[in-house]
Amino acid sequence: MSIQLTDISKAYGNQKAVNTISFEAKKGEIVGFLGPNGAGKSTTMKILTGFIQPTEGTVLVSDVDVVANPIEAQKKIGYLPEHNPLYLDMYVREYLQFKASIHKIDNEKVAEVIERVGLTVEAHKKINQLSKGYRQRVGLAAAILHNPEVLILDEPTTGLDPNQLVEIRELIKELGKDKTVLLSTHIMQEVEAVCDRVIIINKGEIVTDKLLTELKTSNEQIIRVTFDYKLEEQFIKRLPNITAFKNTIENNWILTFDTSEDMRPVIFDFAQENGLKILGLNTENKNLEGLFRELTN
Ligand code: ADP
Repeated sequence: MSIQLTDISKAYGNQKAVNTISFEAKKGEIVGFLGPNGAGKSTTMKILTGFIQPTEGTVLVSDVDVVANPIEAQKKIGYLPEHNPLYLDMYVREYLQFKASIHKIDNEKVAEVIERVGLTVEAHKKINQLSKGYRQRVGLAAAILHNPEVLILDEPTTGLDPNQLVEIRELIKELGKDKTVLLSTHIMQEVEAVCDRVIIINKGEIVTDKLLTELKTSNEQIIRVTFDYKLEEQFIKRLPNITAFKNTIENNWILTFDTSEDMRPVIFDFAQENGLKILGLNTENKNLEGLFRELTN
């Protein structure tokens, strides 16, 4: 296993930032680590990379115990922290050669990595002359110089414009082919675009761990509907295939169904039979977004 976290907790004073979390990830997997702000994503990543120590639990990276052997473990890890700390006054190539020298890596490898992350035409510039997208490439280049088995990327696309977003996601996908990638984000589309698997963390606890393919094959259907009239729950319960419902405000409902049949016409018929009018009706994509809201709200 490339990543193995077992019963990890981290407390800051008496606040638990993460609470007995466990998960594993294997080679070739790109795992999206999703959660609202303050859920514990960065804390988990810092524990994985040996930057901070857990209060409890064990963490192995490529079978090396990160707490007992942080230096050995860090040889196997490439880490792009949340705010991508770079020496802005250095030139791109100079910076990467400097980072490489720390790992005793030769300049030939630096040239290879510059090419791989698409920095060739920018390599002669100072880092502070680069756009945010290219700065992220420099951060990614620095993270993969020592050819780590595991890449930990903390919100790698925050602040990028839509074109840069697509480019960096492509790059992460490419890098993920022969590595294990754990990527934190609060953008659901990002997980759908890049990841094979999603782990959702909320208030320091893992609330779901699923393959994206499992999500896509689910029959769950979420429909938001507004009637012209306040309905009793017992009426709503009569809808076929309904598995959950929530009366958000006044006459608005979020209805969850478990069926492959499109439930919108059924809701229309239901309204008509009961003398109701529909003022609004939206299907929510049965996707990560619905799941995320359900689990973290
Ligand atoms: P995320 O990355 O998901 O936004 P974090 O891991 O940064 O979440 O934070 C999880 C919780 O731990 C938050 O409530 C945060 O305020 C708290 N926290 C993080 N770092 C520290 C710290 N150094 N000292 C005290 N509390 C912290």
